[in-house]
Amino acid sequence: MTFATFGLIDPLLSALDTLGYKTPTPVQVQAIPAVLAGRDLMAAAQTGTGKTAGFALPLLHRLTMEGPQVASNSVRVLVLVPTRELAEQVYESFRDYGLHLPLRMAVAYGGVSINPQMMKLRKGLDVLVATPGRLLDLYRQNAVKFTQLQTLVLDEADRMLDLGFSRELNAVFDALPKRRQTLLFSATFSDAIRTLAGTLLLDPVSIEV
Ligand code: AMP
Repeated sequence: MTFATFGLIDPLLSALDTLGYKTPTPVQVQAIPAVLAGRDLMAAAQTGTGKTAGFALPLLHRLTMEGPQVASNSVRVLVLVPTRELAEQVYESFRDYGLHLPLRMAVAYGGVSINPQMMKLRKGLDVLVATPGRLLDLYRQNAVKFTQLQTLVLDEADRMLDLGFSRELNAVFDALPKRRQTLLFSATFSDAIRTLAGTLLLDPVSIEV
């Protein structure tokens, strides 16, 4: 099997070629068609399985196919991650895969000045990768709005709960449109994660690798 099997657009295939990705990993084989089809997803996947490309590739494909439609301060795909290190890493992956795509992307986390992040949001973004606390700060300062949000990704959801982000997460969920796609990735599936999945996901595709 190759990445072309999924029907991904040429600019993505050529970026993957440059990166030297030849065969999709098991999580990618399951996740890519489901995300392309607009389904919700619940995936048990550790770091190192290729989970990031599993959601980034199909989301970049869909954003490009749907064409530019970014309004001021709006975000079309929101990826929430537990730490600034993971935020940088996931953002870099989106940048690498989206090298040939005309999409606007940014990363936002705490511990650094909020102003440059607010500036980037002003024109609107196709993809924002953020930690929950800083995202909530941006939202409360009216720097981000979710009227155009089509997909929410929770990456390493178990770590976000372990780090005590439940309150921030719930405040963010309350602000999101109810009609949207939601993808939940977690290394472990505790009762808390199952409860979260039950409230956030609609008829999800389940993936275990
Ligand atoms: P992740 O699990 O998303 O953190 O990815 C782990 C590592 O595998 C990253 O360095 C990716 O660049 C790499 N990777 C992901 N998918 C593939 C693939 N299909 N072929 C080769 N490398 C990959």
